[in-house]
Amino acid sequence: MGYGDYYICRNCSYFGPEYVDTSNKRFSKDPDLRKQILSGSYGDRPKELIISSPDAEYQLKGFLYLCRNCGEMSSESGVIIKAGNKELYRPAKNCRICGKKMKEINSGENVKCPKCGKTLIIEDSRLWD
Ligand SMILES: [Zn+2]
Ligand SMILES: [Zn+2]
Repeated sequence: MGYGDYYICRNCSYFGPEYVDTSNKRFSKDPDLRKQILSGSYGDRPKELIISSPDAEYQLKGFLYLCRNCGEMSSESGVIIKAGNKELYRPAKNCRICGKKMKEINSGENVKCPKCGKTLIIEDSRLWD
């Protein structure tokens, strides 16, 4: 049972990875997330930042990435950290196929099919449950 969204192609049946749209979540000092960050689950940099910045707030986000070089898509959860209006940290991802830096796709953004070039549509997997 899924709970996220997928980019799919109606033309060639390309199926992107599931991602969870968390764009309406707020930044906070959530104690559970803080524990996870401090345990190093999201890397060393986020951990250092929340220790060194007392007013840091954070958000767990389901990121969706697209490789502009080879068309690979992948999804991953990560944290964004900010203090006031300043963003301190946002994860970056390299393509597992070609190693190039991937582009982060915003929820609802128009994406072209990596196989056939037609515009992908978003399917909500919750409709299938
Ligand atoms: Zn296609
Ligand atoms: Zn690639």
